[in-house]
Amino acid sequence: MDTVDRTEDLNPHRIARQQFDRSAPFLEDLSDWEGMSEFLFEPEHILEVALPVLMDSRTVKMFTGYRVLHSSIRGPGKGGIRFYPTAGKEEVMALATWMTWKCALLDIPFGGAKGGIAVDARALSRREKEHLTRRYTVALGDTIGPFTDVPAPDVYTDAQTMAWIFDTYQMMHPGQGNLPVVTGKPLELGGSVGRDSATAQGLFHVTARFLELGGVSGLSEIKGARVSIQGFGNAGRHAAKLFHEAGATIVGLSDSRGGIHDPDGLALEGVGRHKDDTGSLAGFPGAEALGVRDVLEVPCDILVPAAVENMITTDNAERIDAKVVAEAANGPTTPGADDILSARGIHVLPDILANAGGVVVSYFEWAQNLANQQWDEADIAEKLRKKMYRATDLVVDKRVELIESLPMYRERWAADHASDPELPKPDYRMTALTVAVERCRNAALQRGIWP
Ligand code: NAD
Repeated sequence: MDTVDRTEDLNPHRIARQQFDRSAPFLEDLSDWEGMSEFLFEPEHILEVALPVLMDSRTVKMFTGYRVLHSSIRGPGKGGIRFYPTAGKEEVMALATWMTWKCALLDIPFGGAKGGIAVDARALSRREKEHLTRRYTVALGDTIGPFTDVPAPDVYTDAQTMAWIFDTYQMMHPGQGNLPVVTGKPLELGGSVGRDSATAQGLFHVTARFLELGGVSGLSEIKGARVSIQGFGNAGRHAAKLFHEAGATIVGLSDSRGGIHDPDGLALEGVGRHKDDTGSLAGFPGAEALGVRDVLEVPCDILVPAAVENMITTDNAERIDAKVVAEAANGPTTPGADDILSARGIHVLPDILANAGGVVVSYFEWAQNLANQQWDEADIAEKLRKKMYRATDLVVDKRVELIESLPMYRERWAADHASDPELPKPDYRMTALTVAVERCRNAALQRGIWP
Protein backbone atom coordinates (compact mmCIF):
# COMPACT_ATOMS: atom_id res chain seq x y z
CA MET A 1 0.00 0.00 0.00
CA ASP A 2 3.03 2.33 0.31
CA THR A 3 2.67 3.75 -3.18
CA VAL A 4 2.43 7.33 -4.35
CA ASP A 5 0.44 8.54 -7.36
CA ARG A 6 3.22 9.93 -9.56
CA THR A 7 0.77 11.69 -11.85
CA GLU A 8 0.31 14.37 -9.19
CA ASP A 9 2.98 17.06 -9.18
CA LEU A 10 4.85 16.48 -5.93
CA ASN A 11 7.41 19.25 -6.35
CA PRO A 12 7.11 21.05 -2.98
CA HIS A 13 7.86 24.50 -4.36
CA ARG A 14 5.24 24.21 -7.09
CA ILE A 15 2.82 22.94 -4.43
CA ALA A 16 3.60 26.03 -2.33
CA ARG A 17 2.81 28.12 -5.42
CA GLN A 18 -0.48 26.32 -6.01
CA GLN A 19 -1.51 26.92 -2.41
CA PHE A 20 -0.57 30.60 -2.71
CA ASP A 21 -2.54 30.97 -5.95
CA ARG A 22 -5.57 29.27 -4.42
CA SER A 23 -5.65 31.79 -1.58
CA ALA A 24 -5.14 34.88 -3.76
CA PRO A 25 -8.76 35.22 -4.95
CA PHE A 26 -9.79 35.74 -1.32
CA LEU A 27 -7.53 38.73 -0.73
CA GLU A 28 -9.28 42.02 -0.14
CA ASP A 29 -7.85 43.98 -3.01
CA LEU A 30 -6.32 42.49 -6.13
CA SER A 31 -5.62 45.73 -7.98
CA ASP A 32 -1.85 45.56 -7.53
CA TRP A 33 -1.71 41.80 -7.55
CA GLU A 34 0.27 40.68 -10.58
CA GLY A 35 3.64 42.18 -9.69
CA MET A 36 2.94 42.03 -5.99
CA SER A 37 2.30 38.28 -6.11
CA GLU A 38 5.75 37.72 -7.63
CA PHE A 39 7.35 40.00 -5.05
CA LEU A 40 5.66 38.12 -2.21
CA PHE A 41 6.21 34.61 -3.55
CA GLU A 42 9.74 34.61 -5.00
CA PRO A 43 12.57 33.92 -2.51
CA GLU A 44 14.88 36.83 -1.66
CA HIS A 45 17.99 34.72 -1.90
CA ILE A 46 19.11 31.14 -2.34
CA LEU A 47 22.52 30.00 -1.21
CA GLU A 48 23.98 26.66 -2.30
CA VAL A 49 27.21 25.49 -0.71
CA ALA A 50 29.58 22.58 -1.26
CA LEU A 51 30.59 20.91 1.98
CA PRO A 52 33.61 18.59 2.17
CA VAL A 53 33.75 16.37 5.24
CA LEU A 54 36.57 14.08 6.32
CA MET A 55 34.68 10.91 7.17
CA ASP A 56 35.66 8.42 9.87
CA SER A 57 36.93 6.17 7.07
CA ARG A 58 39.49 8.96 6.27
CA THR A 59 37.90 9.57 2.88
CA VAL A 60 36.56 12.99 1.92
CA LYS A 61 32.88 13.12 1.10
CA MET A 62 31.13 16.06 -0.55
CA PHE A 63 27.68 17.23 0.56
CA THR A 64 25.44 20.01 -0.76
CA GLY A 65 23.81 22.45 1.61
CA TYR A 66 21.23 25.19 1.10
CA ARG A 67 19.87 28.19 2.93
CA VAL A 68 16.94 30.05 1.43
CA LEU A 69 15.73 33.39 2.75
CA HIS A 70 12.22 33.58 1.39
CA SER A 71 11.14 36.91 2.85
CA SER A 72 12.42 39.53 5.27
CA ILE A 73 9.44 41.82 4.74
CA ARG A 74 8.17 41.32 8.29
CA GLY A 75 11.53 40.72 10.00
CA PRO A 76 14.67 38.56 9.96
CA GLY A 77 14.44 35.15 8.32
CA LYS A 78 13.41 32.31 10.62
CA GLY A 79 13.33 28.62 9.90
CA GLY A 80 14.82 25.26 10.65
CA ILE A 81 17.69 23.31 9.15
CA ARG A 82 17.09 19.72 8.09
CA PHE A 83 19.55 16.97 7.32
CA TYR A 84 17.60 14.84 4.89
CA PRO A 85 18.35 12.95 1.64
CA THR A 86 15.77 14.90 -0.40
CA ALA A 87 16.72 18.33 0.99
CA GLY A 88 17.33 19.96 -2.39
CA LYS A 89 16.80 23.52 -3.56
CA GLU A 90 13.09 23.17 -4.36
CA GLU A 91 12.26 21.50 -1.06
CA VAL A 92 14.11 24.13 0.95
CA MET A 93 12.50 26.94 -1.08
CA ALA A 94 9.04 25.55 -0.31
CA LEU A 95 9.80 25.15 3.38
CA ALA A 96 11.16 28.72 3.56
CA THR A 97 8.00 30.01 1.88
CA TRP A 98 5.77 28.23 4.38
CA MET A 99 7.82 29.79 7.21
CA THR A 100 7.01 33.28 5.92
CA TRP A 101 3.28 32.57 6.02
CA LYS A 102 3.55 30.84 9.41
CA CYS A 103 5.34 33.75 11.10
CA ALA A 104 2.87 36.20 9.58
CA LEU A 105 -0.15 34.15 10.65
CA LEU A 106 1.12 33.86 14.22
CA ASP A 107 2.05 37.53 14.14
CA ILE A 108 5.64 37.11 15.27
CA PRO A 109 8.23 39.59 13.93
CA PHE A 110 10.04 37.29 11.52
CA GLY A 111 10.12 36.56 7.84
CA GLY A 112 10.68 33.06 6.49
CA ALA A 113 13.78 30.99 5.78
CA LYS A 114 14.91 27.38 5.77
CA GLY A 115 18.08 25.37 5.40
CA GLY A 116 18.97 21.85 4.47
CA ILE A 117 21.77 19.47 3.67
CA ALA A 118 21.13 16.52 1.39
CA VAL A 119 22.35 13.67 3.59
CA ASP A 120 21.14 10.53 5.32
CA ALA A 121 21.86 11.77 8.84
CA ARG A 122 21.23 8.35 10.33
CA ALA A 123 24.31 7.04 8.52
CA LEU A 124 26.64 9.68 10.03
CA SER A 125 28.69 9.23 13.19
CA ARG A 126 28.43 11.97 15.81
CA ARG A 127 31.82 13.35 14.75
CA GLU A 128 30.86 13.40 11.07
CA LYS A 129 27.59 15.17 11.90
CA GLU A 130 29.44 17.77 13.96
CA HIS A 131 31.98 18.43 11.21
CA LEU A 132 29.24 18.70 8.58
CA THR A 133 27.31 21.13 10.79
CA ARG A 134 30.33 23.32 11.48
CA ARG A 135 31.43 23.37 7.85
CA TYR A 136 27.89 24.33 6.81
CA THR A 137 27.83 27.15 9.39
CA VAL A 138 31.11 28.56 8.10
CA ALA A 139 29.86 28.28 4.51
CA LEU A 140 26.71 30.22 5.42
CA GLY A 141 28.96 32.98 6.80
CA ASP A 142 27.05 36.19 7.42
CA THR A 143 23.96 34.88 5.65
CA ILE A 144 22.76 33.92 9.12
CA GLY A 145 22.86 36.24 12.13
CA PRO A 146 20.71 37.34 15.08
CA PHE A 147 19.11 40.11 13.00
CA THR A 148 19.26 38.66 9.50
CA ASP A 149 18.31 34.96 9.53
CA VAL A 150 17.92 32.76 12.59
CA PRO A 151 17.97 28.94 12.11
CA ALA A 152 16.40 26.28 14.36
CA PRO A 153 16.10 22.47 14.43
CA ASP A 154 14.08 20.46 11.92
CA VAL A 155 14.18 16.88 10.65
CA TYR A 156 17.24 14.99 11.98
CA THR A 157 18.71 18.08 13.67
CA ASP A 158 18.31 18.94 17.35
CA ALA A 159 19.54 21.04 20.28
CA GLN A 160 23.04 19.56 19.92
CA THR A 161 23.17 20.62 16.26
CA MET A 162 22.12 24.14 17.29
CA ALA A 163 24.86 24.20 19.95
CA TRP A 164 27.48 23.43 17.27
CA ILE A 165 26.08 26.16 15.01
CA PHE A 166 26.14 28.68 17.85
CA ASP A 167 29.69 27.71 18.84
CA THR A 168 30.97 27.97 15.26
CA TYR A 169 29.27 31.32 14.69
CA GLN A 170 30.65 32.55 18.03
CA MET A 171 34.20 31.62 16.94
CA MET A 172 33.65 33.65 13.76
CA HIS A 173 32.16 36.68 15.58
CA PRO A 174 33.66 36.78 19.09
CA GLY A 175 32.36 39.19 21.69
CA GLN A 176 29.14 40.06 19.91
CA GLY A 177 26.37 38.51 22.02
CA ASN A 178 25.57 35.81 19.50
CA LEU A 179 23.14 33.62 21.46
CA PRO A 180 20.13 34.70 19.32
CA VAL A 181 21.82 33.44 16.11
CA VAL A 182 19.98 30.12 16.51
CA THR A 183 17.03 28.89 18.56
CA GLY A 184 16.25 25.44 19.85
CA LYS A 185 19.55 25.47 21.75
CA PRO A 186 20.22 23.36 24.87
CA LEU A 187 18.91 24.93 28.10
CA GLU A 188 22.47 25.41 29.41
CA LEU A 189 23.30 27.46 26.32
CA GLY A 190 20.51 30.01 26.22
CA GLY A 191 17.78 27.63 25.10
CA SER A 192 14.24 28.21 26.28
CA VAL A 193 12.23 25.95 28.53
CA GLY A 194 9.39 24.49 26.53
CA ARG A 195 11.11 24.70 23.10
CA ASP A 196 11.60 20.94 22.83
CA SER A 197 7.89 20.14 23.06
CA ALA A 198 6.63 23.46 21.62
CA THR A 199 5.65 22.20 18.16
CA ALA A 200 3.58 19.40 19.67
CA GLN A 201 2.18 21.67 22.37
CA GLY A 202 1.08 24.17 19.75
CA LEU A 203 -0.51 21.40 17.69
CA PHE A 204 -2.33 20.21 20.78
CA HIS A 205 -3.68 23.73 21.51
CA VAL A 206 -4.84 24.29 17.93
CA THR A 207 -6.61 20.92 17.82
CA ALA A 208 -8.20 21.34 21.26
CA ARG A 209 -9.39 24.85 20.44
CA PHE A 210 -10.78 23.78 17.07
CA LEU A 211 -12.79 21.00 18.73
CA GLU A 212 -13.96 23.37 21.47
CA LEU A 213 -15.19 25.79 18.78
CA GLY A 214 -17.30 23.02 17.27
CA GLY A 215 -15.09 22.40 14.22
CA VAL A 216 -15.86 18.67 14.20
CA SER A 217 -19.41 17.58 14.83
CA GLY A 218 -19.66 14.90 17.50
CA LEU A 219 -16.12 15.53 18.81
CA SER A 220 -15.80 18.38 21.26
CA GLU A 221 -12.62 17.45 23.14
CA ILE A 222 -9.38 15.52 22.94
CA LYS A 223 -10.34 13.27 25.87
CA GLY A 224 -11.63 10.00 24.46
CA ALA A 225 -10.51 10.76 20.89
CA ARG A 226 -8.59 8.16 18.88
CA VAL A 227 -5.33 9.54 17.50
CA SER A 228 -2.97 8.19 14.84
CA ILE A 229 0.44 9.79 14.30
CA GLN A 230 2.95 9.35 11.47
CA GLY A 231 6.46 10.30 12.64
CA PHE A 232 7.90 9.65 16.09
CA GLY A 233 10.55 12.36 16.34
CA ASN A 234 10.41 15.75 17.99
CA ALA A 235 6.94 16.69 16.75
CA GLY A 236 5.28 13.25 16.68
CA ARG A 237 6.63 11.78 19.90
CA HIS A 238 5.81 14.83 22.02
CA ALA A 239 2.37 15.01 20.37
CA ALA A 240 1.66 11.37 21.25
CA LYS A 241 2.55 12.07 24.88
CA LEU A 242 0.42 15.22 25.11
CA PHE A 243 -2.64 13.63 23.47
CA HIS A 244 -2.24 10.53 25.66
CA GLU A 245 -1.94 12.62 28.85
CA ALA A 246 -5.13 14.47 27.86
CA GLY A 247 -7.05 11.18 27.74
CA ALA A 248 -6.86 10.35 24.03
CA THR A 249 -6.19 6.80 22.83
CA ILE A 250 -3.15 6.48 20.56
CA VAL A 251 -4.19 3.86 18.01
CA GLY A 252 -1.43 4.21 15.39
CA LEU A 253 2.21 5.32 15.30
CA SER A 254 5.04 5.10 12.80
CA ASP A 255 8.61 6.17 12.18
CA SER A 256 10.63 5.90 8.97
CA ARG A 257 11.08 2.15 9.41
CA GLY A 258 7.51 1.03 10.03
CA GLY A 259 4.21 1.51 11.79
CA ILE A 260 2.25 -0.11 14.61
CA HIS A 261 -1.50 -0.24 15.21
CA ASP A 262 -3.75 -1.21 18.10
CA PRO A 263 -7.41 -0.10 18.01
CA ASP A 264 -7.58 -0.52 21.80
CA GLY A 265 -4.66 1.84 22.32
CA LEU A 266 -0.88 1.51 22.24
CA ALA A 267 0.92 1.49 25.61
CA LEU A 268 2.90 4.65 25.02
CA GLU A 269 5.57 4.23 27.70
CA GLY A 270 6.39 0.76 26.44
CA VAL A 271 6.45 2.02 22.85
CA GLY A 272 8.87 4.79 23.85
CA ARG A 273 11.18 2.32 25.59
CA HIS A 274 11.06 -0.01 22.57
CA LYS A 275 12.01 2.90 20.27
CA ASP A 276 14.89 3.95 22.56
CA ASP A 277 16.19 0.39 22.91
CA THR A 278 15.90 -0.74 19.27
CA GLY A 279 15.95 2.57 17.37
CA SER A 280 12.65 1.74 15.73
CA LEU A 281 8.93 1.29 16.41
CA ALA A 282 8.78 -1.81 14.23
CA GLY A 283 8.52 -5.03 16.16
CA PHE A 284 6.72 -3.54 19.17
CA PRO A 285 5.16 -6.63 20.73
CA GLY A 286 1.38 -7.06 20.70
CA ALA A 287 0.65 -4.43 18.02
CA GLU A 288 -0.28 -5.03 14.38
CA ALA A 289 2.64 -4.16 12.09
CA LEU A 290 1.94 -1.55 9.40
CA GLY A 291 3.75 0.17 6.55
CA VAL A 292 4.99 3.71 7.11
CA ARG A 293 2.11 5.30 5.18
CA ASP A 294 -0.54 2.78 6.28
CA VAL A 295 -0.64 4.46 9.67
CA LEU A 296 -2.38 7.36 7.94
CA GLU A 297 -5.28 5.11 7.02
CA VAL A 298 -6.13 3.54 10.37
CA PRO A 299 -9.59 4.49 11.68
CA CYS A 300 -9.17 7.41 14.09
CA ASP A 301 -10.64 10.76 15.04
CA ILE A 302 -7.49 12.91 14.83
CA LEU A 303 -4.81 12.12 12.28
CA VAL A 304 -1.41 13.75 12.79
CA PRO A 305 1.11 13.56 9.94
CA ALA A 306 4.38 14.45 11.72
CA ALA A 307 7.04 13.15 9.30
CA VAL A 308 7.75 14.85 5.96
CA GLU A 309 6.02 16.28 2.85
CA ASN A 310 3.64 14.58 0.43
CA MET A 311 2.36 11.82 2.67
CA ILE A 312 -1.36 12.46 2.06
CA THR A 313 -1.80 12.58 -1.71
CA THR A 314 -4.51 11.82 -4.26
CA ASP A 315 -3.29 8.24 -3.93
CA ASN A 316 -4.48 7.71 -0.34
CA ALA A 317 -6.76 10.67 0.52
CA GLU A 318 -9.88 8.63 -0.24
CA ARG A 319 -8.81 6.09 2.38
CA ILE A 320 -8.12 8.54 5.20
CA ASP A 321 -10.50 7.47 7.97
CA ALA A 322 -10.23 10.44 10.35
CA LYS A 323 -12.50 13.32 11.40
CA VAL A 324 -9.77 15.96 11.32
CA VAL A 325 -6.16 16.11 10.11
CA ALA A 326 -3.78 18.22 12.23
CA GLU A 327 -0.56 18.83 10.31
CA ALA A 328 2.52 18.66 12.52
CA ALA A 329 4.73 18.13 9.47
CA ASN A 330 5.31 20.82 6.87
CA GLY A 331 3.59 20.15 3.58
CA PRO A 332 2.27 16.64 4.33
CA THR A 333 -0.92 17.10 2.26
CA THR A 334 -0.95 17.85 -1.46
CA PRO A 335 -3.49 20.25 -3.03
CA GLY A 336 -5.20 17.31 -4.75
CA ALA A 337 -5.55 15.54 -1.42
CA ASP A 338 -6.84 18.76 0.18
CA ASP A 339 -9.67 18.78 -2.35
CA ILE A 340 -10.54 15.13 -1.74
CA LEU A 341 -10.53 15.56 2.04
CA SER A 342 -12.57 18.73 1.80
CA ALA A 343 -15.18 17.02 -0.41
CA ARG A 344 -15.35 14.23 2.18
CA GLY A 345 -15.94 16.72 5.00
CA ILE A 346 -12.57 16.07 6.67
CA HIS A 347 -11.06 19.36 7.82
CA VAL A 348 -7.30 19.90 7.61
CA LEU A 349 -5.71 22.15 10.21
CA PRO A 350 -2.89 23.41 8.02
CA ASP A 351 0.83 23.26 8.85
CA ILE A 352 1.28 27.04 8.96
CA LEU A 353 -1.19 27.10 11.85
CA ALA A 354 -1.00 23.66 13.43
CA ASN A 355 2.79 23.29 13.74
CA ALA A 356 3.59 26.94 14.49
CA GLY A 357 4.18 26.32 18.22
CA GLY A 358 7.85 25.59 17.48
CA VAL A 359 8.55 28.92 15.86
CA VAL A 360 6.51 30.77 18.47
CA VAL A 361 8.69 29.42 21.29
CA SER A 362 11.75 29.99 19.09
CA TYR A 363 10.67 33.63 19.01
CA PHE A 364 10.40 33.57 22.83
CA GLU A 365 13.92 32.13 22.99
CA TRP A 366 15.26 34.81 20.66
CA ALA A 367 13.55 37.54 22.72
CA GLN A 368 14.95 36.11 25.98
CA ASN A 369 18.47 35.97 24.51
CA LEU A 370 18.28 39.55 23.28
CA ALA A 371 17.09 40.78 26.67
CA ASN A 372 19.41 38.51 28.70
CA GLN A 373 16.39 37.05 30.46
CA GLN A 374 15.05 33.63 31.38
CA TRP A 375 11.28 33.36 31.46
CA ASP A 376 9.74 30.64 33.58
CA GLU A 377 7.91 27.61 32.26
CA ALA A 378 4.42 28.68 33.28
CA ASP A 379 4.88 32.06 31.65
CA ILE A 380 6.03 30.50 28.36
CA ALA A 381 3.27 27.88 28.40
CA GLU A 382 0.59 30.54 28.84
CA LYS A 383 2.08 32.89 26.23
CA LEU A 384 2.19 29.98 23.75
CA ARG A 385 -1.38 28.92 24.51
CA LYS A 386 -2.63 32.47 23.97
CA LYS A 387 -0.81 32.80 20.63
CA MET A 388 -2.11 29.46 19.35
CA TYR A 389 -5.69 30.09 20.48
CA ARG A 390 -5.68 33.58 18.99
CA ALA A 391 -4.46 32.31 15.61
CA THR A 392 -6.95 29.42 15.61
CA ASP A 393 -9.85 31.74 16.46
CA LEU A 394 -8.74 34.13 13.75
CA VAL A 395 -8.63 31.43 11.07
CA VAL A 396 -11.97 29.91 12.12
CA ASP A 397 -13.68 33.34 12.15
CA LYS A 398 -12.05 34.41 8.90
CA ARG A 399 -13.31 31.30 7.13
CA VAL A 400 -16.87 32.06 8.20
CA GLU A 401 -16.39 35.60 6.88
CA LEU A 402 -14.99 34.38 3.55
CA ILE A 403 -17.80 31.87 3.10
CA GLU A 404 -20.41 34.56 3.83
CA SER A 405 -18.86 36.72 1.12
CA LEU A 406 -18.29 33.81 -1.27
CA PRO A 407 -20.83 35.04 -3.87
CA MET A 408 -18.91 38.33 -4.08
CA TYR A 409 -15.54 36.57 -4.42
CA ARG A 410 -16.99 34.21 -7.05
CA GLU A 411 -18.43 37.09 -9.06
CA ARG A 412 -15.11 38.97 -8.95
CA TRP A 413 -13.23 35.80 -9.93
CA ALA A 414 -15.58 34.95 -12.79
CA ALA A 415 -15.21 38.46 -14.23
CA ASP A 416 -11.48 37.84 -14.78
CA HIS A 417 -11.44 34.06 -15.27
CA ALA A 418 -14.46 33.33 -17.41
CA SER A 419 -13.18 29.95 -18.62
CA ASP A 420 -11.93 28.72 -15.21
CA PRO A 421 -13.96 26.54 -12.85
CA GLU A 422 -15.97 28.27 -10.12
CA LEU A 423 -13.97 29.42 -7.11
CA PRO A 424 -14.08 26.63 -4.49
CA LYS A 425 -15.30 27.19 -0.96
CA PRO A 426 -12.19 28.11 1.05
CA ASP A 427 -10.76 25.43 3.32
CA TYR A 428 -8.69 26.23 6.41
CA ARG A 429 -5.43 26.24 4.43
CA MET A 430 -6.69 28.80 1.93
CA THR A 431 -8.09 30.85 4.80
CA ALA A 432 -4.89 30.78 6.87
CA LEU A 433 -2.86 31.70 3.78
CA THR A 434 -5.19 34.57 2.99
CA VAL A 435 -4.57 36.06 6.44
CA ALA A 436 -0.81 35.52 6.21
CA VAL A 437 -0.34 36.79 2.66
CA GLU A 438 -2.50 39.84 3.39
CA ARG A 439 -0.26 40.68 6.37
CA CYS A 440 2.88 40.35 4.27
CA ARG A 441 1.40 42.50 1.52
CA ASN A 442 0.35 45.18 4.00
CA ALA A 443 3.85 45.25 5.49
CA ALA A 444 5.38 45.50 2.00
CA LEU A 445 3.12 48.40 1.07
CA GLN A 446 3.79 50.18 4.36
CA ARG A 447 7.56 49.81 3.90
CA GLY A 448 7.41 50.71 0.22
CA ILE A 449 9.54 49.18 -2.49
CA TRP A 450 13.12 50.33 -2.05
CA PRO A 451 14.43 52.62 -3.54
P1 NAD B 1 12.51 14.46 13.62
O1 NAD B 1 13.74 14.21 12.85
O2 NAD B 1 12.65 14.66 15.08
O3 NAD B 1 11.45 13.27 13.37
C1 NAD B 1 11.05 12.91 12.09
C2 NAD B 1 10.22 11.64 12.19
O4 NAD B 1 9.71 11.33 10.89
C3 NAD B 1 11.02 10.42 12.65
O5 NAD B 1 10.22 9.61 13.46
C4 NAD B 1 11.36 9.72 11.34
O6 NAD B 1 11.56 8.34 11.53
C5 NAD B 1 10.11 10.00 10.52
N1 NAD B 1 10.37 9.99 9.08
C6 NAD B 1 11.40 10.56 8.41
N2 NAD B 1 11.29 10.34 7.10
C7 NAD B 1 10.17 9.60 6.93
C8 NAD B 1 9.51 9.06 5.79
N3 NAD B 1 10.02 9.23 4.55
N4 NAD B 1 8.37 8.38 5.99
C9 NAD B 1 7.86 8.22 7.22
N5 NAD B 1 8.43 8.69 8.33
C10 NAD B 1 9.58 9.39 8.18
O7 NAD B 1 11.82 15.71 12.93
P2 NAD B 1 10.71 16.69 13.55
O8 NAD B 1 11.43 17.88 14.06
O9 NAD B 1 9.79 15.95 14.43
O10 NAD B 1 9.96 17.14 12.21
C11 NAD B 1 8.88 16.38 11.67
C12 NAD B 1 8.04 17.31 10.80
O11 NAD B 1 7.59 18.40 11.60
C13 NAD B 1 8.79 17.93 9.64
O12 NAD B 1 7.92 18.11 8.56
C14 NAD B 1 9.21 19.28 10.18
O13 NAD B 1 9.46 20.22 9.16
C15 NAD B 1 7.98 19.62 10.99
N6 NAD B 1 8.17 20.63 12.00
C16 NAD B 1 9.09 20.48 12.99
C17 NAD B 1 9.27 21.48 13.92
C18 NAD B 1 10.24 21.36 15.05
O14 NAD B 1 10.24 22.24 15.92
N7 NAD B 1 11.06 20.32 15.14
C19 NAD B 1 8.48 22.64 13.86
C20 NAD B 1 7.51 22.75 12.86
C21 NAD B 1 7.38 21.74 11.95
